[in-house]
Amino acid sequence: MSTPYDWLDRSLDSIHKANWYRSTQTVTSKAGTISMIDGREMLMFASNNYLGLAGDRRLIDAAIKATEMYGTGSTGSRLVTGHLALHEELESAIADLKNTEAALVFSSGYLANLGTIAAIVGARDLILGDAYNHSCLKKGGLLSGATAIDYQHLDLADLTAKLQEHRAKYRRCLITTDSVFSMDGDLAPLREIIDLAHQYDCMVLVDEAHGTGVFGDRGGGLTQALGIRENLIQVGTLSKALGSLGGYVAGSAKLIDYLRNRAATWIYTTGLSPADTGAAIAAIKIIKTENNLREKLWQNVGFLKQGLQNLGFQAIAFDSPIVAIEMGDIAKTLQIATHLRENGIFAPAIRPPTVPTPRIRLTLMANHTHEQIQYFVQCLQAW
Ligand code: PMP
Repeated sequence: MSTPYDWLDRSLDSIHKANWYRSTQTVTSKAGTISMIDGREMLMFASNNYLGLAGDRRLIDAAIKATEMYGTGSTGSRLVTGHLALHEELESAIADLKNTEAALVFSSGYLANLGTIAAIVGARDLILGDAYNHSCLKKGGLLSGATAIDYQHLDLADLTAKLQEHRAKYRRCLITTDSVFSMDGDLAPLREIIDLAHQYDCMVLVDEAHGTGVFGDRGGGLTQALGIRENLIQVGTLSKALGSLGGYVAGSAKLIDYLRNRAATWIYTTGLSPADTGAAIAAIKIIKTENNLREKLWQNVGFLKQGLQNLGFQAIAFDSPIVAIEMGDIAKTLQIATHLRENGIFAPAIRPPTVPTPRIRLTLMANHTHEQIQYFVQCLQAW
């Protein structure tokens, strides 16, 4: 007998057939450079824990202290019972980190982007986004009802052409870009994008998910490293270099005031948990002051670059802790990923259609040792 759920079998089948099927692997250890994954010790080269803070004693203690003071849940949405003094402290710390008038924390970076984009543009507006932008920027565009057009990755000439062709037909225009692209590790030309936005009267939303903590003297992100002072909409996550969970938007006081009244993914959801909030506050204190963590991370990027280049491997960029090594065709890339896994290295193959070219995607952390990076390079060489 057929049921209304039979389509699930067919859909799962087609996911399998397209080689798109994904499954989880179970981690049973604290975040660090070595992880227990599916019962096996693996050298971790795929984590977003860029500064190693997710396993840092100070963040753990801050999460415990916040939990003891406020309990485990924030008990309601921010506009009802869930607005804690701790949230205010975190939002002030983010605004200070980002040099903006104000900031607002969301339950995740994904929700921060969805809610912000859907709140600031609508049916009469235009979004021009880098083709490689993260899923949440693209889905935010869909949710907003605005006309969303991609420009080619990092291509200012294409962005200019699209502004010329489309800008005048719409009321507001929003240009969206990741600062550090998550699958390629390359960087957006933010200065030039902002100049174009100025010329064509557009707002700019920059997703600093992979830039915060990693770039800038105080870890304020690529925007800070480039000395950009313009009024932008800066979005990011508390879950990567900051080692916690949650997302944020930083910008003008008016923008934040408006989002508190219009961003559905902030209004109609429970406030961030005390533990996540406390841990993020502790992380921001650390990233503002401990430049040595960033220095160590960048040294590791340089060390890997040297090792790979000595062997003649090509990476898309060495501009961030995300290093995507192009290996040729899909079959070869999958073989290398298997070889690495067999040698206790966790560094996945990413392939089309997720990305245009197959690659091994590596992420570095400040607490990787040179020996660990050397071991990775040796495993590639042995292959
Ligand atoms: N933006 C980018 C560029 C990301 O890579 C991610 C996470 N993969 C997010 C946003 C979403 O952040 P979160 O994990 O906090 O939802």
